[in-house]
Amino acid sequence: MTKVPLRTRLFISHLIVMTVAIVALAGVSRLSTPRYFVVTLERLEGRGVRIQQMRGQILESFADAWARGMVWSVLLGVSTAGGISYLLSSRIIRPLTRMEQSTQRFAAGDWGARVPPSEIPELHQLGHSFNRMASELEQVEQQRRDLVSDLSHELRTPLTILRGYLEALTDQKLPATPETYARLLRETQRLQRLVEDLQELSKLETGYLPIQRQPIALTPLIQQVTQRFRDQQLESENPQILVESALDLPTIVADPMRTEQILVNLLSNALQYTDNGTITVRTWHQADQVWLAVEDTGIGIAAADLPHVFDRFWRADRSRNRGSGGTGIGLAICKRLVELQGGHIQVTSQPHQGSKFEFWLPKAT
Ligand code: ADP
Repeated sequence: MTKVPLRTRLFISHLIVMTVAIVALAGVSRLSTPRYFVVTLERLEGRGVRIQQMRGQILESFADAWARGMVWSVLLGVSTAGGISYLLSSRIIRPLTRMEQSTQRFAAGDWGARVPPSEIPELHQLGHSFNRMASELEQVEQQRRDLVSDLSHELRTPLTILRGYLEALTDQKLPATPETYARLLRETQRLQRLVEDLQELSKLETGYLPIQRQPIALTPLIQQVTQRFRDQQLESENPQILVESALDLPTIVADPMRTEQILVNLLSNALQYTDNGTITVRTWHQADQVWLAVEDTGIGIAAADLPHVFDRFWRADRSRNRGSGGTGIGLAICKRLVELQGGHIQVTSQPHQGSKFEFWLPKAT
């Protein structure tokens, strides 16, 4: 079946409408006008005007004049309406053609291709929807590229270290001491942690990590987690872990395991970046939000770095934290976990004074 282009279809449909209108007009006029004319003549005769002998001639001339008038009207009408129809069809087709070109460019890999605005509201809306979808796809593509490049960068360092050690051991330039093996083990553990964290983040981002939300009391969870951290501190009292929990704290709707994971992450960070002073876990509630803050008196984060702390792989000092085993994924996971549970996480910090990570989760209704 041959496909007729939209422009031709529109044009033909206009022509059909026009032809029907003209035929109807001409038909009705052809039938009714002579009758009205005869009535007019009879009225004239009634008033005493003598047209008896010329009646036939008058009627004939009228029919002739009517036919000529009709031919000119049809010619003028068809050409004017045809021209307007052509212009209108083109006006509708032009933005559609531009839209098609943009989508083809986009499909061919030009991620910046966008549909220009149109003065026809429906087409403008369609173009706007396409542009929004294109921007989202462009962002996803950018994230994919960033992930691949970040990932190769993160994997390269431990792999280079491992390779260096193994080559030195093979060439017997390095003694095969327990320290050397311990270093090798540390690097492989780091790689393993990186892969595990990444897998978790990827599951979170693609929505494969199930979140089982239920009403839970936050205070007992905080007591339990902070006690575990205090136990791990052994003899050391520094930094001191304090809990300041609101007495009338409402229950929240959240996944207990995931909430614990967020708290553990924030507390581990606070401990890692605080040598002296205190780490305080504080809770309060505001409208239907239950807040939890982990505040430390540690090294803090520079103002310029704050917008990046929740980005994956981001670390304030890449080399220093890599040595301490940080992957820069922990906070990205926290953010996703909080958001998946309907909440929000934020950070405030002063370099050399401390950081405060706070998040809220919805109150149980
Ligand atoms: P990491 O595994 O490196 O700790 P995170 O995503 O948990 O990864 O943290 C990202 C970076 O944010 C850390 O490397 C560190 O530079 C900074 N950071 C996180 N928490 C704190 C904190 N409490 N005090 C100072 N810096 C912090």
